[in-house]
Amino acid sequence: MSRVYLTGAGPGDIELLTIKALRVIKEADVIIYDRLANPDILEEAKSGCEFVYVGKEDGRHIMPQDDINEVIYQNALKHKCVVRLKGGDPFVFGRGGEEALYLLEKGIKFDVIPGITSAISAPAYAGIPVTHRGVSVSFRVVTGHESPNKKVSQIPWENFKSDDTIVFLMGLHNLPRISKKLIELGKAPNYPVAVISKGTTKDQVVVVGTLENIVKKSKDVPTPALIVVGRVVELRDQLKWFEGND
Ligand code: SAH
Repeated sequence: MSRVYLTGAGPGDIELLTIKALRVIKEADVIIYDRLANPDILEEAKSGCEFVYVGKEDGRHIMPQDDINEVIYQNALKHKCVVRLKGGDPFVFGRGGEEALYLLEKGIKFDVIPGITSAISAPAYAGIPVTHRGVSVSFRVVTGHESPNKKVSQIPWENFKSDDTIVFLMGLHNLPRISKKLIELGKAPNYPVAVISKGTTKDQVVVVGTLENIVKKSKDVPTPALIVVGRVVELRDQLKWFEGND
């Protein structure tokens, strides 16, 4: 009987892979991976393991999600141990839920191996705690993919008035609209924002600014990148530990 492991690869730093993920990667007959999973992880696979790339290149989908679901299923018919390796955590904007539902429908057994999401770990490597006593009592992880100009938004913008932390994933291209929208909601133009690119890797870049100037300051930052909005960003001054930490 075959089994599919919907596996989180962590955010980039290979040492943030879980022990469980490493075990199934070593046992896998095939690994189906995407762009955000650090490719160095594949070196841990046994000899003879097959690799299938189903990633996206800068917004250009190599393969639609329906086809990815089918690739996973077809591999499960051929192999005993199938690892579906996804960047960060498979259920945090990873479409892992859709893949799991497809496998369920097809009668294929699956396990979910959570991964360390970039939403928390990239800020941590930038010296930004997503919650902090007296500063932020909660954090939200929000898709930045939807334009704030959309008429009927699924994003509860009205809830973003507090000082609680907001982490936008997939939002860099929408940053001008996101910062404008937050100012319209009443946040001060000098409210702190950080953009973190390639978080937890040796290429990590962190740009700190305000709602008013972050677009200009982060203009040339490469993806993947996420946006942190909140007073917690101010803690980076004291808590930054990773960059230049050789
Ligand atoms: N499942 C993933 C997120 C997938 S959505 C996770 O849990 O991390 C893809 C988005 O994640 C990117 O657009 C970017 O906003 C963010 N992201 C992923 N890896 C990142 C990294 N190393 N540094 C900064 N942002 C990252």
